[in-house]
Amino acid sequence: MNLKRRTFLKLSAFTAGASALGLGITGCSKADQQPVSQFPEYTGASNRLVEATVDLESGKVKPNSDVMIRHSVCMACYNNCGNRVKVDKTTGKIIGITGNPYHPVCSQPALDYETTVDESFKSFSMFDYNGHTHRATVCAKGNSGFEVVDDPLRITTPLKRTGERGSGKWKPISWEQLMEETVEGGQIFKELGDDTKVEGFRQVFDHKALINPEAPEMGPKSNGLSWFYGGSYGRREFTLRFTGAFGTVNTYVHSGT
Ligand code: SF4
Repeated sequence: MNLKRRTFLKLSAFTAGASALGLGITGCSKADQQPVSQFPEYTGASNRLVEATVDLESGKVKPNSDVMIRHSVCMACYNNCGNRVKVDKTTGKIIGITGNPYHPVCSQPALDYETTVDESFKSFSMFDYNGHTHRATVCAKGNSGFEVVDDPLRITTPLKRTGERGSGKWKPISWEQLMEETVEGGQIFKELGDDTKVEGFRQVFDHKALINPEAPEMGPKSNGLSWFYGGSYGRREFTLRFTGAFGTVNTYVHSGT
C-alpha cells in the first residue's frame, strides 16, 4: 500500500491520540475475563471527552471547556511519574490520566515550565511531527490508577475484626472509636468472647520500662509499637515523624510496582 506522507501522519496522529487520550482501551480491564477474540471490535470512537483537539494542518489548539486538567504525580508505585489528570467538569469525575509533558520522569526532554498548556497539547499531537519528543506517557498502571477513586471495594472507613483472626469478618467503625481503642486499649474484643486486655498507645508510650528485663536488647516498651506501611512516597515523612516521636525503632516499609 502506498500511503502519502501526510495521510500516514494523519493516521498515526489518530492512533497516537487514541493512545494518549485513553481511547479504545475500555476492554483492557476485562482482559483476564475474556478471550482476546471476544474483545469488542475497535470502532475508533469513544464517548470519552478529550481535553483538546489540535488541527494537524494549522496547529491551532482548541481546548475543551468541559474538561479540566491538573498536573500531578502518579502514586500507583514508587516511581512517582508526573501525570496529567483529566476531570469531567460536569460530573466532577476523573475520566483519564495521561503523561505530564512538563515532568522529566515521563517526558524527555520535558517541556519548559514557561510553555503554555495550550502549546503543551501539541506535544501529544502529530502536528509538526517530531517523533516521541515531549510525548509524555504513564504506564498502564498509571493510566488506570484513577479507578481506585470510585472502586466499590475501596476502604474509606476504619474496619474492626468481628471474627477469629483470618476469618475475614470485619465491620466498619467510626474514627472516634478507632482512636479511643488504639490509644486507650482495653478489652477491645470482648464481644467476641476474648477477655484479653490489649495495651493501647498510652500504655506502650514508655521510654523507661523495658519490654523484657531479661532481654534488655529489645529496648524500652515504646519499641512495642511496630509500624508497617506500604508505599514510601509521601507516607514516609509522616510515618517517621510519628514513630520517631513515639520512640520506636520498629518502623518498616514495603514498596512495589
Ligand atoms: S504506576 Fe506507572 S506511571 Fe505510576 S509512578 Fe509507577 S511507573 Fe509511573
